[in-house]
Amino acid sequence: MIRTRIAPSPTGLLHIGTARTALFNYLYAKSQGGQFILRIEDTDQARSTQEFEQNIVTGLEWLGLHPDEGITTSGSKGDFGPYRQSERTELYRPYLEQLIVSGAAYWDTTPLEEIAQQKEQAQQAKRPFVYRPECREQQNEYRDGAVLRFKVQDEVIWFEDKIKGKIEFDMSLMGDFTLSKGWDNPLYNFVVVIDDELMKITHIIRGEDHISNTPKQIVINRALEFSRKTFAHLPLILAPDRSKMSKRHGAVSIDQYRQEGYLPEALVNYFALLGWNEGNDREEYSLEELIQKFTLKRVQKSGAVFNIDKLQSVNASYIKALPLEQKITSGVQFLSQNRYNIQHLAQDQLERAIDLECQRIKTFGDIGEGIDFLFKDPVYDSNILLWKDMSISDVKENLEWVRQVVYNIEEKTSKEIEQTVKAEIQQDNRKPGCVLWPLRVALSGKERSPSPFEILTILDKPTALNRIDTALKLLSER
Ligand code: GLU
Repeated sequence: MIRTRIAPSPTGLLHIGTARTALFNYLYAKSQGGQFILRIEDTDQARSTQEFEQNIVTGLEWLGLHPDEGITTSGSKGDFGPYRQSERTELYRPYLEQLIVSGAAYWDTTPLEEIAQQKEQAQQAKRPFVYRPECREQQNEYRDGAVLRFKVQDEVIWFEDKIKGKIEFDMSLMGDFTLSKGWDNPLYNFVVVIDDELMKITHIIRGEDHISNTPKQIVINRALEFSRKTFAHLPLILAPDRSKMSKRHGAVSIDQYRQEGYLPEALVNYFALLGWNEGNDREEYSLEELIQKFTLKRVQKSGAVFNIDKLQSVNASYIKALPLEQKITSGVQFLSQNRYNIQHLAQDQLERAIDLECQRIKTFGDIGEGIDFLFKDPVYDSNILLWKDMSISDVKENLEWVRQVVYNIEEKTSKEIEQTVKAEIQQDNRKPGCVLWPLRVALSGKERSPSPFEILTILDKPTALNRIDTALKLLSER
């Protein structure tokens, strides 16, 4: 059974890198009929917090990446717990002992200052610094302040990365690294190996920033005679200038995307494309479709550039495709959040306004700006009432004429209204632009807005007539 895991450290909010790694682990596990596990790596107690853990766990679930095992919003589940490293301390000790007994690890009490001195001397002499102290050959007992080090051998360690291909390390360049500070403070490279084994993880899929940890984990894994794991390192997410993506390039926390009105399905869809494609330029996939199509083979080797315009356009299509009730729920929520006064609109007017706006917006955070004229009378410069080279009197005459047409309208849908108004225009032998432009501006106060027919399905008739009167008044004052 294929088992993958996401193993975030709760030292910050859930960010796009972790979300994308979680997604690829989820997709790989699900595509193989396997399981996806969420483990919290909180060995760095000084920087880990419960709030960050909660943010990560709820964020992943919000994205729809529900773990089969591990920490969930409704507690821990699975047979291989605890799934929080801080609760596993006593599980680690026997493995530390085993490494000491087999001679793969040793206690080192060399003071840090002395190691720093050795390093400096090496630098001055321009030789590489490879820490291999004499005490590595002695069977020292534990003493206060001692660290347990892994005895690195001179050899070449290699592994076949499922994404990057063969990767080799010359271990003669690597110093003896720390497994644990004392008995009770085991460190990342050691605990990760124990946890992956005890949790029966088969595939370790993670960011390429972990490649340098992999040889360390391989030698520990081998020394403990654990099963071999398969590794796949994902390309970094890059900013448009190809530097490492960070806060200064835009939002990196999932929370922020949620608050700005991105849909989880759109984020998941976009994250899948950050480093993976099916071999064509298809851009829209549901999570189910991704599970069917995903393979590690088609993950690219080099950095994946984050393109906010593409994410926004994916999000816009997901908003357009939402069922009406969801448009309304999110629309109302974000309109209130954006402080639009929607109280005086009747429910059906509000629903039509939101539906209309959902054709245009890229995120729910954008909602309102394009239809604010529906909530309050617009204030605008009368110049924009003039279509091309129309004279003021021409505009007035057309507006007065169309006022009567609007007054008589009985139709309800935008299509019907359009037909009626256009038929009247034709019958009266008028130029459509000369009527429709001033009408639309009178109703919306904007140079760009939805069509007058759509606006007329939302504004009630007295308001529409009132706005035409206001426009006529503005023109008379000129
Ligand atoms: N805890 C590590 C991190 O948050 C992940 C370790 C791993 O995937 O092996 O970067």
